Amino acid sequence: MINPFDDTYFMKKALQEAELAYEKGEIPVGAIIVVKDRVIARTHNLTELLNDVTAHAEMQAITSAANFLGGKYLLNCTLYVTLEPCQMCAGALYWSQISKVVYGASDVQRGFNTMGTQLHPKTEVVGGVLAEEASALMKRFFIEKRNLN
Ligand SMILES: [Zn+2]
Repeated sequence: MINPFDDTYFMKKALQEAELAYEKGEIPVGAIIVVKDRVIARTHNLTELLNDVTAHAEMQAITSAANFLGGKYLLNCTLYVTLEPCQMCAGALYWSQISKVVYGASDVQRGFNTMGTQLHPKTEVVGGVLAEEASALMKRFFIEKRNLN
C-alpha cells in the first residue's frame, strides 16, 4: 500500500495557500504544519496586508500550530513551505524544535542555506518537493508585478 499522505500530498496544500497569497497581491509563499497526517495550521505570507516584515507564512504557521497544540514546541510536527525558509524563519523554526521541515523551491539569495543559518540539529530537512510549481508561481507573481509598474 502506498501512503497517500506523502510529502507531495501536503506540499500541494501548502501551494494552495501560496495561491491565496498570490490572489491578495502578496509574495506567494504558503505553509502548513502537519502532525500525524493531520493539518493543524495553514497560513500564507501576509507582509503587505499586515504591514509587517515578520508576517512570513512560516512565522504564522509556528504561532498557529503552537496555539493549536497548547505548547510552544512543535515536536512530531512537519512544516511544509513552498519556498526555502529565510534566516528569520529558520531561527524561529530552530526555537520551535520542529521535527521536520519540507520546502519546495530553493531561495538562492535569501534562503537559510545561503545565509548560513542552521535549523535545530534534531530537525530533518527535505528540499525540492514540487519546487517547479512553487517557483513558477513566484515567477508569475514577479512578472505581473513588473508589468504593473
Ligand atoms: Zn521567512
